[in-house]
Amino acid sequence: MTAVYLDFNATAPVRPAARAALNALLDRVGNPSSVHAAGRAARADLEKARDAVAALVGVVPGSVTFTSGGTEASALAIESAVAARFERILLGATEHDAVWEAAHVTGLPVEVWPVDADGVADLAWLDEALVRPGRALVCLMMANNETGVIQPVAEAGAKVRAANGWLHVDAVQAAGKVVIDFSALQADTLSLSAHKIGGPQGVGALVAGTRATLTRRQHGGGQERGRRAGTENLPGIAAFGAAAREALAGLQALAAQAAWRDALQARLEAAGATALGKDADRLPQTLCVASEDWPAETQVMIMDLGGVMISAGAACSSGKVKPSRTVEAMGRPDLAPYSIRISGGWSSTEADWTRAGDVWLEAQARRRPKIREVA
Ligand code: PLP
Repeated sequence: MTAVYLDFNATAPVRPAARAALNALLDRVGNPSSVHAAGRAARADLEKARDAVAALVGVVPGSVTFTSGGTEASALAIESAVAARFERILLGATEHDAVWEAAHVTGLPVEVWPVDADGVADLAWLDEALVRPGRALVCLMMANNETGVIQPVAEAGAKVRAANGWLHVDAVQAAGKVVIDFSALQADTLSLSAHKIGGPQGVGALVAGTRATLTRRQHGGGQERGRRAGTENLPGIAAFGAAAREALAGLQALAAQAAWRDALQARLEAAGATALGKDADRLPQTLCVASEDWPAETQVMIMDLGGVMISAGAACSSGKVKPSRTVEAMGRPDLAPYSIRISGGWSSTEADWTRAGDVWLEAQARRRPKIREVA
């Protein structure tokens, strides 16, 4: 039996159209900065990709700056807000490390913006925080990488704009999974990553509105209108563009995946698992469940042995498993070590979701008698 991959929130399989675009560019010569025919063709490919990424979030192509990924895009946004003399940061409690750490290294005062039990940011807290002195950079992710919980970004955007703040939105997980209309969000900057939508790893983009002035993050060349020096990763960017085009066209099909996710959720809940964020608006293809006293790493290993690849809710970096900040912020630190994430995407099938349930339930049934023996 072939293995099932249900870890799209970590990275998605590369779409055939993205692979074709990447290979086509590898087979051709041309630096987008060269003025000869090959250079002009390369420039045209770069701009075609920019058009596709812009269309994914409903902006004009000039708003898009290509980067090495979602992490760099958020770093560019936060550094730009610091350069624009914003004085403090209001930081969503469940932000990804890409934003969390970039905010903390600025040296600006950081206030953590709490979430409710479903993982949704508390807008009343934002109202109070925005009236305190100091121009605020506000960081709120569009959808959480662990739970898939979607934040009230447009509501926050209206408040931040009224307070003359800067709203940065990490939309790395939301892109290609739900509709994103940048202007409706009233965001100032928004980050994207190719490898979460079926493009290659190591490519991303920062979308910036007219109020945001981006800094020069890297010196040494005029690429990306001086915002990011260095010859562009054209094959990767072209593949990002192809993936963005397909992700946009596939939004409706992906939305239907919620039915398969919900069916799995119901099976696991019936067996005693707790689904996190299930009462909030969620991405259609993400499920985060915790089972008390069954460590997440053990569940991931057992699922892997059964041919199903998923993630622990806890992020693993440099060999150390950190408890999930997201689950802790939702007021369930007790569940943090036991939460797993199952996430599908463009190539997932109903059979994949069913198999995940079969393997998990079988492992749980094997485990149950042992628990009783110990007791
Ligand atoms: N933001 C979120 C919410 C993510 O899930 C990730 C990746 O896991 C990132 C940012 C980082 O993106 P990249 O891997 O492209 O740097």
